[in-house]
Amino acid sequence: MQYVSTRGAAPVLGFEDVLLAGLARDGGLYVPQSWPQFSADDIRALRGLPYSEIAVRVMLPFLGGAIDEDAFRAIVTDAYASFDHSAVTPLIQLDQTTWVLELFHGPTLAFKDVALQLLGRLFDHVLAKRGERVTIVGATSGDTGSAAIEACRDRQNVDIFIMHPKGRTSEVQRRQMTSVLSSNVHNIALDGTFDDCQDLVKGMFNDTAFRDTMGLSAVNSINWARIMAQIVYYFTAAVALGAPDRKIAFTVPTGNFGNVYAAYGARAMGLPIDKLVVGSNSNDILARFFASGTMAAAPVVPTFSPSMDIQISSNFERLLFDLLDRDGDAVTAALNRFRAEGNFAVTDAQLAKALSIFAGHRVGEDGTMETVATTWANSGYLLDPHTAVGVAAAKAAKAKAEVDPSVPMVVLATAHPAKFPDAVEKASGRRPALPPRLSDLYEREERLSDLPNDLATVQAFVAARARAAQEAA
Ligand SMILES: *Cc1c(COP(=O)(O)O)cnc(C)c1O
Repeated sequence: MQYVSTRGAAPVLGFEDVLLAGLARDGGLYVPQSWPQFSADDIRALRGLPYSEIAVRVMLPFLGGAIDEDAFRAIVTDAYASFDHSAVTPLIQLDQTTWVLELFHGPTLAFKDVALQLLGRLFDHVLAKRGERVTIVGATSGDTGSAAIEACRDRQNVDIFIMHPKGRTSEVQRRQMTSVLSSNVHNIALDGTFDDCQDLVKGMFNDTAFRDTMGLSAVNSINWARIMAQIVYYFTAAVALGAPDRKIAFTVPTGNFGNVYAAYGARAMGLPIDKLVVGSNSNDILARFFASGTMAAAPVVPTFSPSMDIQISSNFERLLFDLLDRDGDAVTAALNRFRAEGNFAVTDAQLAKALSIFAGHRVGEDGTMETVATTWANSGYLLDPHTAVGVAAAKAAKAKAEVDPSVPMVVLATAHPAKFPDAVEKASGRRPALPPRLSDLYEREERLSDLPNDLATVQAFVAARARAAQEAA
């Protein structure tokens, strides 16, 4: 299995190099040269298997022999043992034709754990084989930092430094990060804003000597292995509901387009997916694209579903590559135009190709809250605001006859309601409780370092603690 860049000007790489590289050298994103194919019999053979076994079978072709099957099975089994539900991603029925796929049973209660719990272990395995170490640095406004920390904690060959703006995250968010006391985890409370944190991360990456000595790396949402890990649960859900002998539709609450792109990949591998509905909150660049064929930037507005407050969906580039017939120069031209003028458009034929698979719907703040309330009233099920955007978008797609009403609709539940207790309580009158694994969060010891908004100080802090630097010295 080889991977090519969406911009067409970076070397073709195998799995290990793609895993460690993240972004391609030409600024593009790596995608498989061709999708592995699963026949109806291959899919039928997945019925009744445990999650981790389906995961091994679905992902193995992407490794191209880089990791042997038994070692990979051990890594996958260990990653998903960290989930607090034995089905890992259970399906819950909401009404006659709608299910939710709960992706929030990992350590930080959000769907990013599904990919990151595997990614941290894959990094460690490949680094050990190569005798290398990396230093992960990242900035968080609160939500994604804990998933990265949980992915990297206790890994032998990885040190992680996560900066958050001091006093500007919620207490639950801060405690989820700072109560991880592993010696390779370093939380920095920065005297500044989230943008200051991001600028410092950029500053560290732009300092080539520092970057090389520290072996700087990132576990951001453009890493191919995250997409690969997310393909798995589309298979488990579809097979549980009757695939390959029945078609299935999915609705995905979307921000960076990573999760729904994984569904697109599952479809390309042969899973009979009827339609993919993209749910956007008020930051609706994707819904506007599917309505018009034009991607046009707009300012980001804060919503009840903050993990989707994104106006540039970085993983959309992977779909664009296919819409433009895998022409890297055309992708580069479209994205240059987007950067310079804030927009680009596809042709009517290219839009028609996209709409044969996707539909997009925007769900505003009122619609989100109303959906939390009515779902609680009708089904006794508490949705988090991100998942509520999905449930409302699925309903809108049905109302517009974009999906076949006889096809089961699976909405991806991307966060546990207890991650967003204030919004959920406001909508439903019910305050969701933290699940048992986090119920003592407020009693746990915290460890963090207060640092000023100064690049040299932060770099010295990292250099004094990163094991990659100590070995280089
Ligand atoms: C990251 C995230 C999303 C968006 O997923 P993408 O892959 O970026 O589209 C949706 N919901 C929650 C809770 C998230 O954390």
